Formats: sequence, C-alpha cells, structure tokens
Amino acid sequence: MVSIFLQSPTFLTPLSYPFSSRSSTKRTQHGASLSLRVTASRSSFDVVVVGGGIIGLTIARQFLTGSDLSVAVVDKAVPCSGATGAGQGYIWMTHKKPGSDVWDLTLRSHELWHKLAESLTDDGLDPEELLGWKKTGSLLIGRTTEECVALKQKVHELSEAGLRTEYLSSAELLLKEPAILVNDNTGAAFLPDDSQLDAHRAVAYIEKGNRAFATAGRYAEFYNEPVTGLIRSDGDSKVVAGVKTLKRNLYGKKATIVAAGCWSGSLMHELLKDCNIPLDVPVKPRKGHLLVVENFDSFHLNHGIMEAGYSNHQSASVSGLDVDERMLSISMTATMDTSGNLVLAISNFREQP
Ligand SMILES: Cc1cc2nc3c(=O)[nH]c(=O)nc-3n(C[C@H](O)[C@H](O)[C@H](O)COP(=O)(O)OP(=O)(O)OC[C@H]3O[C@@H](n4cnc5c(N)ncnc54)[C@H](O)[C@@H]3O)c2cc1C
Repeated sequence: MVSIFLQSPTFLTPLSYPFSSRSSTKRTQHGASLSLRVTASRSSFDVVVVGGGIIGLTIARQFLTGSDLSVAVVDKAVPCSGATGAGQGYIWMTHKKPGSDVWDLTLRSHELWHKLAESLTDDGLDPEELLGWKKTGSLLIGRTTEECVALKQKVHELSEAGLRTEYLSSAELLLKEPAILVNDNTGAAFLPDDSQLDAHRAVAYIEKGNRAFATAGRYAEFYNEPVTGLIRSDGDSKVVAGVKTLKRNLYGKKATIVAAGCWSGSLMHELLKDCNIPLDVPVKPRKGHLLVVENFDSFHLNHGIMEAGYSNHQSASVSGLDVDERMLSISMTATMDTSGNLVLAISNFREQP
C-alpha cells in the first residue's frame, strides 16, 4: 500500500493500491546487515519514504537509481519486521485473473523481478545467492471435477493473456510432482515461469544498493522511529512538508510517501485526522498462518504448490463466490525455500478486527 504526498500547491495526491498482509511469523534472517545502518544528522531530503518494507525500500531504490534526488527511509522498526519478513516470496501469476484490477500491476512486478534476476546473471552474479531466486514454476491444484473445469478455463485465459501455461491431468501432475497424492479428480494449472525469492535476502540486496548512495549524501535510514505526525508548511496549511517521528522532524522537499503496508490505512487516518479530508485507504489486514519446517527431507517438492481455492482470495469473479462465502474461504500453499525448509501457508479471507 503506497500513498504519496507531493509537495505542490494542490496539497495531496494520494496514489493508492491495496495490499492485504499480516505478519504472522519471523523467519531466519539471511544476510540482512542491520549493524550497517546508514543514518544522517541532516533532516531534509528530497523524498521521505515512510515504511522500510520491500515496497518502501524499492521506492527508495527507484529514486536513487533513476534520478538525482536524495531519499530518507523511516521505519517504526526495521525492514522485514512487517509483512515482508513473513512472506513466502512467491512471484506467481498462477492465481491471478487477467483483466482484474491488480493484473497489470502483478504482471509488471513479475517482469521486473525476472529482469532483476536476469541482470544479476548477466553481470556474473548469482540471483539465488543474492535474492534466494528460484524459478520453480507453480502448480494451482484442483481436487474436484468442478475445480478442474475452472482450472482449464484459467489456463485458457492465462494463455490468451500471453503467459506460458498448460493444464495437467492427474497422471501428468504426478510425473511433475511425485510427492503429492492425486486421484482421478485431480488436475492442475502449471505455469513454468513462476518463481520465488527469499524476502530477507532480497531486502538485504536492495538495502545494500541503497546504502551505496549514502556517501554521496543521497540516502539515509531512520529505523526504530515510528512516524507520529505530518509536518505541514506554515503550521496548519494543507501542504505536507515532511513527517514527525518520536525522535526528529524529517523534511521531504519534493514528496512524502507512505508505504507502511497493512498499517497504511490506520496511519493515514491518524496523520490526516485534523485535515478534514475524507480518505478511504482500502487496506484490510488478512489472517494467515505460516509453518516453516526447517531442513525438511521427508519428501521434496519440485514446484510451488497452491490449492485452486486460493484464486478465490484474489477475485470473487473467478469463482462466483459471494462475500460471505469468501469470508469463510481457506486455502493452502506449499513450497521448499532456498534453505531446504518446507514452507506451508494457510490463508483465509476473514478480516481481522
Ligand atoms: C504470511 C505472508 C505470506 C506472504 N506471501 C507472499 C508471497 O508469497 N508473495 C507475495 O507477492 N506476497 C506475499 N505476501 C504479501 C507481501 O509480503 C506484502 O505484500 C509485502 O511484503 C508488503 O510490503 P510492504 O513494504 O508494503 O509492507 P511491510 O513489509 O509490512 O512494511 C511496512 C513497514 O512500515 C513500517 N511502519 C508501519 N507503521 C509505521 C509508522 N507509523 N512509522 C514508520 N514506519 C511504519 C513497518 O514497521 C514495516 O516495516 C505475504 C504476506 C504474508 C503476511
């Protein structure tokens, strides 16, 4: 979830898109170099980014590599303390619906991650080492005749949208993934180009790149500093000049960007409560559970695996489920991560109080 306050006479231009996420577990950190934090005594930057998750750090990276602007990232804790640190890192298209409101964004994101991995390889570096990158492909598995009919339709739609995909019968599925139980009613949509990464490694890589700009005075991090308010030009004007943290004022001369993940809704509400501006930030926490079985060797999974019902969490129109039915919908994913751990995740649509 990202909202941007641009420094302009028109005050606010909130650019928002929804992410639903909730940190539920902490995983082993791979290489995140928290001791190398880059702070600065100065308090004025071109851009202030609130939130140092994968989104905030990537926004900072984009400004640093694509412009000559200076950037400060401020976080109430540290990167990976939010949803980013809990995520499985699937870069999957398999459960997305062409034409849905998140389709273009997902496709672009998928392309950019692939390009990053390829550019590392081209530079003689190892994307698996640096990002935990694995091109596993993904399997969306149906276990009833109805689900398999829907999966065939899905394969057709994804192919029409330009993705490499195929429908697998139960026998074909078993050849690809011998460890799973199948019967005559089982089938799968297979996307060979889907991938996964390790969020901790990816964050460490992005942080390292951002920190390279610190010596030129273009980058600083302010971690463990919750943002508590907005600084407004001339006291109470509608022009946002930066943010207040518990320790300091940070000025964003050109923009202040809120990328605080699932906290963005409540944070924006809090920051704007005195501004008399109606703002609906469409971010709702979603419950999920993640089980990581370390050094798992009882069986091996070759691909990322997801139950067909997972698609229902993305779009009601895929399944025709109404909101009440989706509220009860639960489905599961399974994968092996770069470190050989089995990662089982259960997600449901139930909103958290
Ligand atoms: C269990 C789980 C599994 C997931 N699996 C996947 C997956 O496989 N693939 C996928 O694409 N996505 C997955 N996601 C979703 C993905 O992790 C999130 O969409 C993504 O990490 C969001 O990144 P973010 O930077 O927006 O949020 P976050 O990583 O949550 O970062 C937000 C940051 O804002 C900071 N913050 C909050 N309030 C303040 C404040 N007042 N002041 C300063 N800082 C503040 C927080 O400390 C935090 O570091 C998963 C999520 C979860 C929970």
